[in-house]
Parts: sequence; structure tokens; C-alpha cells
Amino acid sequence: MGNNKYKVLVIEDDDYILNLIETLLTMNGYQSLTAQTCDMGHTMFISYNPDIIILDLGLPDKDGIDFIKNVRQNFTVPIVVLSARTTEQDKIIALDSGANDYITKPFGSGELLARVRAALRIRRQNIPGALPKSQFKTGGLTIHYDSRRVYVGNCEIKLSQTEYNILSFLSEHSGRVMTYSSIVKTIWGCVDKGSTKKLQVNMANLRKKLGSKPGSNYYILNELGVGYRMVDEDCEIHETVAP
Ligand code: CA
Repeated sequence: MGNNKYKVLVIEDDDYILNLIETLLTMNGYQSLTAQTCDMGHTMFISYNPDIIILDLGLPDKDGIDFIKNVRQNFTVPIVVLSARTTEQDKIIALDSGANDYITKPFGSGELLARVRAALRIRRQNIPGALPKSQFKTGGLTIHYDSRRVYVGNCEIKLSQTEYNILSFLSEHSGRVMTYSSIVKTIWGCVDKGSTKKLQVNMANLRKKLGSKPGSNYYILNELGVGYRMVDEDCEIHETVAP
């Protein structure tokens, strides 16, 4: 049976949630594959080469973080973590281990689908042999990588070198949450005590200069306590806000 549906591997030990996600995916035109343990998930991954993985962390045989580290040794397949662990530290560990995104339970079905779409766009951008992009566009924002110029609409935005470097880095990973430490390491080379503060100051200036997208979202979303995410086209993901 040939089809061109995206294959989504869901690794989740809770029957109720697994069925819920499976139904949601099938109703929205995805082909879903399921596993209830890390080992089973790994076998399914190797056998079926899914386009994306939705991964629970608390699994009966191993921790989902081990699964991420294991897969990331050789594969770039997008991994969206879906977990009951809600602390910032949990999110940072998963993202720094190689997860592309993180959703906490309980979750909204619209949000899960939006994040799956965002992660699939990342996969398309990473297709081997694709030419390096000379431009990034989202909403009214355009970045010209060659000339290091940034426009919102027709208006050029003057950025400091650091602000441009941060923007450029985030845009190259658009749709994906980049943790504070991964941004700091890329921009300044090392992480020290004042790094996060330095990043926050630059980011506040950068976000102010860029303004917000039509429809009120900022171009760079603040994932509170974890990092930042550059929106991409059709992004329906919103900022996390303090409870
Ligand atoms: Ca679980």
C-alpha cells in the first residue's frame, strides 16, 4: 500500500494518551505507529524510518532521555517530547539532549498538531543536498544572510553585531526551541555566570527593534526559563507565560 502520509512514531506507555494521540494523528492525515516501551520504540524507529517521533519520557524500561541520546548519535529525525515533567530543568535536559520541542501534559490537541507541523518543517529544511539559504522570511521579517541586513516590511532594522548573530542563529533553527546555554555557547563561545543575563538584555533589545508580527506574536518567542524560539511561517505556537 503506497501512500505519501507522514509517518509519526508515538512512544507512550499510557494506553489512554496513546489512543488519543493515535486518533488525533489519523484524523489529521498522518500515519501513526505506536510503541509502549523505549526498546519497542527503537525497533519501530529502525524498521519504519518515521518522519517524526513523539516521545514520552517516563517509560517502563528506560528513560526517554536515553532514547533521545541514543537516536541522536546517528539520526536527525525530529523528536517532540510529550511529558508530565514540567520543570524548566526537565525541558532544558531534553532539549540539550537533542529533542526538537517539548510539550507538557496535559496538552491541547491543536498545540500538539502545531508542534508536529513545525518539527516536520525543520525536517524538510534539513534535507541533505539542499542549498544553503541566502534569505530567511517569516511574516514581514526578512534576513539577508550575505549582506547581514534585516528588514521588517520595507524598513531596514539596524542591529548590533551581537543582536544580528543571535537573530541569525535562531532563524537557522526556526520553529525549534534553542536553550539559553546553546545560544550563549554559539554567540560568546562559553557559558559563565552573567551569560544568561547578557543574553536576556540583547534579546530584549532585539525583540523591541523587530516589533511584533502582524497578529500580535513576536518574531522571537520567549520559552520562559528555557530559551527562545524563532517563529516560522504558519507558526501557531505562542509564548509560554509565567503562571
Ligand atoms: Ca509515561
